[in-house]
Amino acid sequence: MIKKFLQSLSIGLLIVQVVNAQPDRWQQAVDYKMDVDFNIKTHQLTGKQKLKYYNNSPDTLYKVFYHLYLNAFQPNSEMDVRSREIIDPDKRVGDRITKLKWNEQGFIKVEALKMNGKPVKYKVVGTILEVTLSKPILPRKSVVFDMDFISQLPLQIRRTGRFNAEGIEYSFAQWYPKMCNYDYQGWHAHPYVGREFYGIWGDFDVKITLPSNYIVAGTGYLQNKAEVGYGYSDKEPASRNPRMTWHFKANKVHDFVWAADPDYKQIVHKMTDGTVLRFFYQPGDKTDENWQKLPPVMEEVFNYVNNKYGKYPYKEYAFIQGGDGGMEYPMATLITGERGLVSLVGVSVHELVHSWYQMVLASNELLYPWMDEGFTSYVSDDVMNHLIMKKLIPGKYEDNPHLGSVRDYIKFSKTGYEEALSTHADHYTTNAAYNVASYVKGAVFLEQLRYIIGEDAFSKGMLVYFNTWKFKHPNPNDFIRIMEKVSGLELDWFKEYFVNTTDTIDYEIVEMRGNELIIKRIGQFPMPLDITVKLNDGTLLNYYIPLDMMRGSKKGDIVFHDFKENTPVSWVKTGFSIFINNNINDIDKVEIDASQRMADTDRNNNIWPRFMEAKEDYK
Ligand SMILES: [Zn+2]
Repeated sequence: MIKKFLQSLSIGLLIVQVVNAQPDRWQQAVDYKMDVDFNIKTHQLTGKQKLKYYNNSPDTLYKVFYHLYLNAFQPNSEMDVRSREIIDPDKRVGDRITKLKWNEQGFIKVEALKMNGKPVKYKVVGTILEVTLSKPILPRKSVVFDMDFISQLPLQIRRTGRFNAEGIEYSFAQWYPKMCNYDYQGWHAHPYVGREFYGIWGDFDVKITLPSNYIVAGTGYLQNKAEVGYGYSDKEPASRNPRMTWHFKANKVHDFVWAADPDYKQIVHKMTDGTVLRFFYQPGDKTDENWQKLPPVMEEVFNYVNNKYGKYPYKEYAFIQGGDGGMEYPMATLITGERGLVSLVGVSVHELVHSWYQMVLASNELLYPWMDEGFTSYVSDDVMNHLIMKKLIPGKYEDNPHLGSVRDYIKFSKTGYEEALSTHADHYTTNAAYNVASYVKGAVFLEQLRYIIGEDAFSKGMLVYFNTWKFKHPNPNDFIRIMEKVSGLELDWFKEYFVNTTDTIDYEIVEMRGNELIIKRIGQFPMPLDITVKLNDGTLLNYYIPLDMMRGSKKGDIVFHDFKENTPVSWVKTGFSIFINNNINDIDKVEIDASQRMADTDRNNNIWPRFMEAKEDYK
């Protein structure tokens, strides 16, 4: 009986392992214990940090590096110089850092640092702490770092800081010394210029002490709810000491954010599935109405994304008014809150969706910002369209909410400012090139893929990708391999063109000769073609031309199906033709990609007869 049971159990385990095959890629791990005391007169916090660091790599480490992000808010920091020299600076930053007085600047000062109880040598280089270890950390061993530090929170310039434009007193982001990530691609101790992040997962245990009239919102689960009150518990405490300690814990997160303001109002919304959503905002005419409408809308967003893109793995999430614009953190976001409903929902959706792509998948944003911002933008567009359909927000429902991204990318590709997606996030020549590449072209990457492999494989792939690569920091190849497996198609050519080049797609219908449709590839970038023929009686006929290097064709596309499949075409051919079943006299119109999903830079030459385009031009 037992033996039989064990046999079936082991067979069961075997099957589970095959289905959920987790990639074998080691990850460093961290456990932070921090105890910090905040002085609201000096805007400084004094902190003790105990960091258990797990070297799960096969390598011996002789050095480690920490981020000291707040050092960026000092005149002549790399962030300041970069902002003053780039031709299109972020208006929120501009030359503001250079004008900060000493007591308005930010810093993280390391007062003492020990590894396993023994002092280590360290040196501050801008926003990076370089630590030379007296004893190396051997492979698959853990050590404990003890650090005393003082942080000064700068005037709010970007993301973090005090007194933001909407009057939130303290937005504590990037506020503590944070271990840089070391992975299979080496150390990632990049200087902070105000852009992207890359972190290590671990457990955070954070105690924050400050005057008790401040309400704190942040990452994780508050441990002392009854003592705190302020909406965290049903009853308010009978009294509070003049200073109060807030104790938060969070598991398997790669950062910790918090904000504090005496005026915060908290709305607690418990979802049907038990997830607790918390909303913190400063009450007033510009916030009350729309923040009160937010909770049920965000529950619908959670349900939709959980179902379609993977399950949110934490039990709580906090939407916190603070910072500037919107910025994502684990289990929380800082967003500006004096917004109209659609804008408030829009920023909340975008930052929340980062929970999937930045907090749980967490591709290295320095190297692949588009796998976070682009995928997040893509899913956000889908979610917003869904909310419109559900009439939870006003707006026009679109059959395809991603066409705007395709058009924006095409427009920018013609400016001459475009840089390849493979560019390091910090090193794009202009902010515009970075923005379009990361947010727009990253989304277009997914839309092109959906066009190439079809809806069924694509939506399956998005789920399999999340479940396979969660908590593993996937790279572009990891993603495309998933899409290859779900579609059965070879897709490396697509990834290489789209990520590593700025080559563009442009196909032209040269002419119809009898029933022969003659096509020319003008752009360098080859693609499979969806071709729609409209007959004079209104009948639509679909013809599909795969590329031979795909080794197959798409199936299960909701937009383009019931097609006649033509012989695959080689990418080397710039000219080729297909034969239409009907004669030229029966044909009203032929169009390459009538869905307009393919990022073809010149749509006018996609149509035959060409006078139709001329008609458009003269209207
Ligand atoms: Zn974003």
